[in-house]
Amino acid sequence: MAALDIHQIPVWDDNYVYLARDPETGATAAVDPADAEDVLEAAAAKGWTITHILNTHHHHDHVGGNLEIKQATGCTIVGPRTDRDRIPGIDVEVGDGDSYRLGAAEAKIFDVPGHTRGHIAYWFAESEALFIGDTVFALGCGRLFEGTPEQMWHSIGKIRGLPGSTRVYCAHEYTQANARFALTVDPENAALAARAAEIDRLRADDVPTVPSTLAEELATNPFLRADDPGVAAAVGLAGADPVTVFAEVRGRKDRF
Ligand code: ZN
Ligand code: FE
Repeated sequence: MAALDIHQIPVWDDNYVYLARDPETGATAAVDPADAEDVLEAAAAKGWTITHILNTHHHHDHVGGNLEIKQATGCTIVGPRTDRDRIPGIDVEVGDGDSYRLGAAEAKIFDVPGHTRGHIAYWFAESEALFIGDTVFALGCGRLFEGTPEQMWHSIGKIRGLPGSTRVYCAHEYTQANARFALTVDPENAALAARAAEIDRLRADDVPTVPSTLAEELATNPFLRADDPGVAAAVGLAGADPVTVFAEVRGRKDRF
């Protein structure tokens, strides 16, 4: 099986929509299409026909293009079972442990509640690609609109176990602001300092910092490192359990 071809489309202020095409069958998914026009145009420019929409969660900047793209292409809309009532035009409901085939490419589905109660992630193992929506960002994580720190830490735990080479396709370019915050809660982390400098360099040239690899996130993203003694100590919680540290780090980010 060949790996997916993945095309990144920046839309609106800071959203990323992805087109993921299985080269064997031509099946092409738009992942979290915020907007129909930009996404249809990008697909046309590539000569790709959208056959699927994969939604991670119900927020407007992830499903805003659903109905118009479906009307234009007749595509199949896949989304979280737990949130089926909030996913416009949903055809196929998926949840934790399910597999979903995009042509010849197979995604494993994880329930990753926290940002919203029905958030899911799509992991294409053979393509080393994880579509994670607003659960994990480069150097950050989603706000807890509908979940608890405990839920989010558990969701992040599912992601932490994937191979380090996995590319993390998150849905926003928040990395530079996230880096500024991360340095305040993980100040002794040399890998983080180096990455923050690299991010400043990339953003100065308007280059996307997404996707990153999971290995990079494990080494530098404080929200994946709530069980790291250095992070716990930096937020005054040495020896505390990871959920407590995670809650503190998330709370600080909300106020940053
Ligand atoms: Zn969201
Ligand atoms: Fe979003």
